[in-house]
Amino acid sequence: MTVRVGQGFDVHAFSDAPDRVLVLGGVVFEGERGLVGHSDADVVAHACADALLGAAGLGDIGQHFPDTDPQWAGADSIGLLTEVAGRVRAAGWEPGNVDCAVVCERPKLSPRRDAMQQRLTTAVGAPVTVKGNRAEGLGAIGRAEGIAAFAVAVVSR
Ligand code: MG
Repeated sequence: MTVRVGQGFDVHAFSDAPDRVLVLGGVVFEGERGLVGHSDADVVAHACADALLGAAGLGDIGQHFPDTDPQWAGADSIGLLTEVAGRVRAAGWEPGNVDCAVVCERPKLSPRRDAMQQRLTTAVGAPVTVKGNRAEGLGAIGRAEGIAAFAVAVVSR
């Protein structure tokens, strides 16, 4: 058996647009500021997708879903993640698991963690775990200017 690991990173700034909805791990956080992005800006789903693509040697999410392509404007990133998992399997790799660390001052993730994990796990077809971390006031994330996410994925064949 061949096992490979991949790493994904993403960051999105908070938006001033009142109509932007905050979506993290496919879960809507009502009443929270949304993030700037071409798609729904789901930074968690994007980091997970990049980790899977990296593990399978399939490049990155920008190559697969260019933000210059109007087809992906406002895209549901859980749908993109499902598509990524399909492309990983089509390349002969089976996702083992994905683990994602989300860094933000707000919102508080723990009340929605199970819902996020469920949506992401369904999309990938393998266990996806999510952990929330604060930046303790340090740097741009610490000033609550945006949300960052780091993910690792394992695939095997
Ligand atoms: Mg992104």
